[in-house]
Formats: sequence, structure tokens, C-alpha cells
Amino acid sequence: MSETMRAFVIQGIGKTAVVEKPVPEPGPDEAVVKTTSALVCTSDVHTVKGAIPVAANRTLGHEAVGVVYRLGSSVTGFAEGQRVAVNAVTPCWQCSYCQRGFTSQCQGMLGGYKFTAQIDGNMAEYYLVPAAQANLAPIPDDLPDEKAVYATDMLSTGFAGAENAELAIGETVAIFAQGPVGLAATIGAKLLGAGLIIAVEGIPERKKLAEAFGADFVVDFNEGDPVEQIMDLTNGVGVDAAIEAFGFPQTFEAAIRATKPGGRISNIGYHGEVPDPLQIPLAPFGMGMSDKKILTSLCPGGSERMTRLFRLMQTGKVDPTPMTTHEFPFDMIERAFHMMETKEDGIIKPLIRF
Ligand SMILES: [Zn+2]
Ligand SMILES: [Zn+2]
Repeated sequence: MSETMRAFVIQGIGKTAVVEKPVPEPGPDEAVVKTTSALVCTSDVHTVKGAIPVAANRTLGHEAVGVVYRLGSSVTGFAEGQRVAVNAVTPCWQCSYCQRGFTSQCQGMLGGYKFTAQIDGNMAEYYLVPAAQANLAPIPDDLPDEKAVYATDMLSTGFAGAENAELAIGETVAIFAQGPVGLAATIGAKLLGAGLIIAVEGIPERKKLAEAFGADFVVDFNEGDPVEQIMDLTNGVGVDAAIEAFGFPQTFEAAIRATKPGGRISNIGYHGEVPDPLQIPLAPFGMGMSDKKILTSLCPGGSERMTRLFRLMQTGKVDPTPMTTHEFPFDMIERAFHMMETKEDGIIKPLIRF
């Protein structure tokens, strides 16, 4: 008789449940991790609303850490019981997209995102890790779960936003929205040496966190056009780079308007909840000849990047845990998920303990 486990699944659009499932068995290049901690992501909320087509009873979740439970026969250098994290994106590291360096587009558009989208996710007591040799990241002994788990998505995605902003030391940057990914982008912009960091946010708790994480100014869109406020803060010229961490037509357009000619617009916002297509305002885009660049990314994965993110937390340069506003046992996952839908009680990230 096979072992069973509890898993938090999507049963249909708008419908979730905790169900019993068999514990997965690893193939030769896979591993099975026993989950110890996880974070609930707004992407899971999008998924349950129908953002991506998924099979009924697919397990949700993609931000989890744990210990190695079983290793496939060809996975070497890891031991059962070892603490590991796995990025939300788990590329194969072999296909033409991966070989070209676009690992998040593994095997095709957004194909590196396998948890929930293509296979069971990891909001479960155990989870399967594809291409485990490259996707299992050992967690250093001195790094607790509650920090390590931020490397699986929030820090990797937010930092990708800052990296794609191509910031030179001392440059100016505006970051649109300070949800967890935007807050991580603020941390990333500070790490990369931005000289002026302007965060755009309207929720008081998030404004406070933005300042704590390195924003020099927080522009509140409730107090007028954020682009005008950004222009006032930059002597009317705009910022060198803007990071779009919200995923909304107005913020995308504002990012283009707020950026000076030759600047970069780095998108990490998910734009799947609004009508197609996104529009580019032409005058601030120089009628298409502004030398402004639009760059995009999806949470880069792999153990090498994870190890670098861990190092920043080990040496105390980054502590994302002030974003963890709530903590629940796995028994209360449905409550945590519901709160992420409603965003009640100032919730930013709920940590789930298994
Ligand atoms: Zn996520
Ligand atoms: Zn690939």
C-alpha cells in the first residue's frame, strides 16, 4: 500500500480543498522533498481564479522548503534528511531555451513554471522536484526556513526586476507597487546601488516596509498622479529605470511615462488579469524612438541563484521576514489562502508550517 499525504488542491475555478494523495515517487532524475515551511503566493490566488488552465485536483503552491525524503537514482551529492529549497521555477536545464539562458521559458513560453501549471505544486506534505540535480538548493545550517523560503520566489523575482533595470551605482529608480515582489525589488535596487529609490504605494503598512527596505521616498497614488510626483523628485527628468511590480495597464503606462529617454522599464508584474493588449503611451515612448527598453522576466530558478540569495541572508544583508505578517499551521491553509484573496488584516505573506 502506498503512503498518503495531505495536499492543498484546486478542484475547479474558485474551488479549493485539502485532499489525501499518494506520496510521489521520484524518477531517476527527480527527488521528493518532505515540506517543512511554505509561503502562500498571490499567483496561487490568480490560478484559482482561472488565470491558467490546470487539471482538477492539481496541488497548489510553489514557494516551499523542506528536507530530502527520496532521491532518484541519478541525483548525486545530496543526502536524505538534508534541508533543501526549490525555486518556484524548475527548468530542465537541457532544452534549447535553457541552453540559450532563458531557463524560465524552458521548453516554451513560461514553461519553466512547472509547479501547479504542469505538475503538482508544493503546498503539500511532500512534493516532487523535477531535474533535481540543478533544482535542489541546499539550505545552509545557519539559515532558518522562514528566511530561506523567500528565495523560492519573492527574492528571486523581485531581484530579477532590479537586475533587469540594469541599475548603475547612483542611478534613480521608481518601483511601482510594494506588494511582496515590489518590496523585494526595492531591496534589490538598494543592493545594486541605486542612488534614489522611489517606491509607489498607497497602503500604509506597505509604505512603512518600503522605507524599511530602502526606499528614499514613497509616492502615494492617493495623493495625485505618481508620475508627476516622480518628476518633481527628479527635477522634471524622470528616473533612469522603472520597475513594474503590479501588473496593471495604468502602472505599466506610468512606468513608461516616469522613465527618462534611454531608460529601462523592467516588468515583473503579472498582466493576465486585465484585457489584452497592454498599451504603450506614444509621446513618452518617443513615438517608438526613445531608446527606452522594456525588459521582462519570470522568477529565475536553479541552485546557483538560490545559493547567492541564501548568502545575502546569511551575512545579514537581506532580511525579508518583516513581510511575513501571519503564520499558520498547514491545518489552516484554507484560512491563509482566503486571507490572501481578500488581503484582509494587512496581510502580505503568510508562512505555513508543516
Ligand atoms: Zn509565488
Ligand atoms: Zn529547459
